[in-house]
Amino acid sequence: MRNVRKFSCLQLLTFLLFLPSCIDTRKASTVTKTPEPLYYSARDFDSVDKFDTHVHLNTYDTPYIQQAIADNIRLLDIVDDRPFGIPMAEQENIALQQVKAFPGRVVFATTFATNNYNNDNWSEEAIAKIKLAVSNGAIAVKIWKNVGMDLKDRNGNFVMIDNPKLDPVLAYMAKNHIPLIAHLGEPRECWMPLDQMVLHKGYYSQHPEYHMYLHPEYPSYESHVKARDHMLEKHPDLKFINAHLGSLEWSLDELAKRLDKYPNMAVDLARMPELFLHAKNDWEKTRNFFIEYQDRLLYATDVQVAQTSDPLAMKKSVHNSRLRYWTFFTTDEKMNDSNGIGEFKGLKLPREVVDKIYCKNAESWFPGIVKDN
Ligand SMILES: [Zn+2]
Repeated sequence: MRNVRKFSCLQLLTFLLFLPSCIDTRKASTVTKTPEPLYYSARDFDSVDKFDTHVHLNTYDTPYIQQAIADNIRLLDIVDDRPFGIPMAEQENIALQQVKAFPGRVVFATTFATNNYNNDNWSEEAIAKIKLAVSNGAIAVKIWKNVGMDLKDRNGNFVMIDNPKLDPVLAYMAKNHIPLIAHLGEPRECWMPLDQMVLHKGYYSQHPEYHMYLHPEYPSYESHVKARDHMLEKHPDLKFINAHLGSLEWSLDELAKRLDKYPNMAVDLARMPELFLHAKNDWEKTRNFFIEYQDRLLYATDVQVAQTSDPLAMKKSVHNSRLRYWTFFTTDEKMNDSNGIGEFKGLKLPREVVDKIYCKNAESWFPGIVKDN
């Protein structure tokens, strides 16, 4: 009897500690008995709980996080296995430090090395790395586009995401309910000639080395999509968050097909100009897509946070950018984009859809996220 009572208290404590933190604004408004508006406005930005599920904190500095506190937004800091910039181990040290300094405000996703991929015991080493990071608080694992675009096996073949050598690692994650975030491939325009590009011409004209149209020896766009789909068929229990609209940014129909077929797949929205373009081309279809797949879309920016000599200017710029996205999702204001899209209109999504995209989905797709105390 005593044990039962103890267990109940523990259960209650656990429940209180892990209370979901996205505030239910519907309940709040019934308390005050004010009729609830169906839509948010720009003024509601501060008061609504938000979560950016894709940022890279590449510095121990804190102004970016301080602005996140001011903007009522929590952050998922993602560690990548990139061949340039800050090495993976240091990215993870920064993540651990920022999680410790800002508990509840910052959480992090780990990754594992691939420079030892051709060792016989690579899978075991990758799993050991994941285990260690999870014991240190990691709530997800990230696989970067080096898988599919850079990493090669002993025979010199590109290693795609559905390579059997990755299976034990993905199976371990599925079994232990650790979500996978993956950036696979690139936008489809990367495989098109410059004169057919709408959004990425500037970047690929400056970086011919990354312009896949010029490098037919690399895997095709279609082979990335196919490998991702095949991986999901092999690992139906894996919670999978595909970054950058699943690299299907060019077609809401193609993306919808995958979301229908793979119930454990969600996508992050870190390709906002593509969404602006969809809104411009077919506003109603874009809005309907968001309403239909409201449980599968996660707000994300993919911001690379660097040290700054002008924290005030940086904070202002970050705030303005967040406000702009908020305006796009919550209002039907006319907007303009500097990427050459021209004028388009905000989606004016219902409040409950906005709540999911900005916060509730983050908590359901990343169960390790807990309340900010
Ligand atoms: Zn990223």
